[in-house]
Amino acid sequence: LAGTAASGKPLPFASCQPQGSAVQIEKNRVVMLHYTLRDEHGMVLDSSSGRSPMSYLHGKGNLIPGLEQALTGRTAGEKLDVTVPPEQGYGRRDERLVQILPRGKFAEDVELVPGMQVSASGPQGARLVTITSVERDFVAIDANHPLAGRTLYFSVEVTEVRKATREEVAHGHVHGAGGHHH
Ligand code: ZN
Repeated sequence: LAGTAASGKPLPFASCQPQGSAVQIEKNRVVMLHYTLRDEHGMVLDSSSGRSPMSYLHGKGNLIPGLEQALTGRTAGEKLDVTVPPEQGYGRRDERLVQILPRGKFAEDVELVPGMQVSASGPQGARLVTITSVERDFVAIDANHPLAGRTLYFSVEVTEVRKATREEVAHGHVHGAGGHHH
């Protein structure tokens, strides 16, 4: 911005932003967005619709890589559709994570149904597994992420982008609205 008018008097602007200076999404930006996740048939798997926008700290691996990549350089108000292949999403399925366990490994008073998610302890600590089938004596579980091996179709609307505070960067997550309170 030119600091003086033709008359030589300073212009009465305290500060002036050049056009197109909206904060871009890059590392250490706090991003708020609305999203809808669909599968290959157009079925909605998850959506922030009807809730507050989701917030995350960009560049810290808080989102799946395919989505984070597509959002880089975007600004508030932008809408985008992003197709994320499994490699850029929740990874490929690993069939070794499908196991058959004796029914006795599970609490007796819990009714087990296919599709149910339970916490199971393994060599890497507790993780969420999906029960895929239930027989009289055996239960099949799948420890793959439910979205592993899936191509994901996101519709995203960026609602807000701001610089992260030093504290947020240090903690690796967002504070305040839509984030951590501590
Ligand atoms: Zn924190």
